[in-house]
Amino acid sequence: MRRVSVFGATGSIGVNTLDMLARQPGEFEVVALTGGANIGLLAEQARATGAEIAVTAHADRLAELRGALAGSGVAAAAGADALIEAAERPADWVMSAIVGAAGLAPGFRALRQGATLALANKESLVAAGPLLMAEAARHGATILPVDSEHSAVFQALIGEDIAAVERVIITASGGPFRDWPAERIADATVAEAVAHPNWEMGARISIDSASLFNKALEVIETREYFGVDPAQIEVLVHPQSIVHALVGFNDGALMAHLGPADMRHAIGFALNWPARRPAPVERLDLARLARLDFAAPDPARFPALRLARDVMTAGGLAGAAFNAAKETALDAFLGGRIGFSAMAPLVEATLARLSRSDGLQNPPGTLDVVLAMDHLARVRASEILAGGTWQ
Ligand code: NAD
Ligand code: MG
Repeated sequence: MRRVSVFGATGSIGVNTLDMLARQPGEFEVVALTGGANIGLLAEQARATGAEIAVTAHADRLAELRGALAGSGVAAAAGADALIEAAERPADWVMSAIVGAAGLAPGFRALRQGATLALANKESLVAAGPLLMAEAARHGATILPVDSEHSAVFQALIGEDIAAVERVIITASGGPFRDWPAERIADATVAEAVAHPNWEMGARISIDSASLFNKALEVIETREYFGVDPAQIEVLVHPQSIVHALVGFNDGALMAHLGPADMRHAIGFALNWPARRPAPVERLDLARLARLDFAAPDPARFPALRLARDVMTAGGLAGAAFNAAKETALDAFLGGRIGFSAMAPLVEATLARLSRSDGLQNPPGTLDVVLAMDHLARVRASEILAGGTWQ
């Protein structure tokens, strides 16, 4: 039996991961499940899977979790240290699906066991790509991408020589504001931003998809995971979300990956790799779809993509700062403190401030250095926000 842990079990990716595990009964032993404020769901998942331990990120919710698990034989723990301890429990396969920079430390720690890390938490690669890849290599661990685009690129590269790759094209649906004029985007509400046209996802990544910050993170994720040059990475708007990515080779061939917008494909692929196993996703009827549309992204209405380029040029700790500033800007938007179109200028102003005096280009030598920059970027973004002078 393979021992598996799921970090972020109560989220969109986590729930889909448990669904995939349940479809292969008798194959897995569940070690640790982690969640946040949804104690009821976490306890229910832990009972259903017979997990060794359930961990909530909220230290003050331990008694509640204990109560919900009473008589089940599942251990309960809470808080940031407990998440790290859960990541230290021996496991063969670990799903990293906590949202945001909070997923970095647990995933990083899981690599020390030489486990396979199924990485949905793209923020880890954005903030600490070189560090994460080196840690995996040091411990003989495998990182498999669980982002639809990156799983698609990975699959298109099977049996290929990376040296023959000319370009990597990741697609973007364009989100709910794809055809909106700039003035309307500026006034967009949280409810409008969360309403993704094709994918069912957590609220934060849905809003990041609307701003294309998600695609900006994914461009950096592509660079860090596959080691391709930033100039080789392209973003293509594709409203139907059927083609997830294309890899262009030096003979002009383009290998595309097509599939329905269902993360259980990428999760199942990472779970069973290098084998393929049946997945419960819709089979595409291309004749019924009839057409697939493609367009170039509009840099004026969606400046996040340009910021991703700046971050890759800066290198060092810029990815960590970018992600943290983006998370702070997203919190400000969710809290009604800034408008939708103020997020990108706030992130840009934060990066500019950090590059002047705060060591933005220092190498991401250790996890502590990365987390310190993450913290500093949040402080600087909050200062700029409070000053109100960035736009
Ligand atoms: P979600 O918001 O639905 O779930 C997030 C999970 O993380 C929950 O279990 C939550 O309890 C936990 N969590 C939140 N804050 C935490 C904290 N501070 N400490 C510990 N745990 C915390 O998010 P999601 O949509 O499932 O996305 C999870 C990750 O997967 C993100 O990194 C996202 O970018 C990535 N991803 C998601 C999708 C998707 O389709 N949902 C696709 C590709 C990549
Ligand atoms: Mg994606």
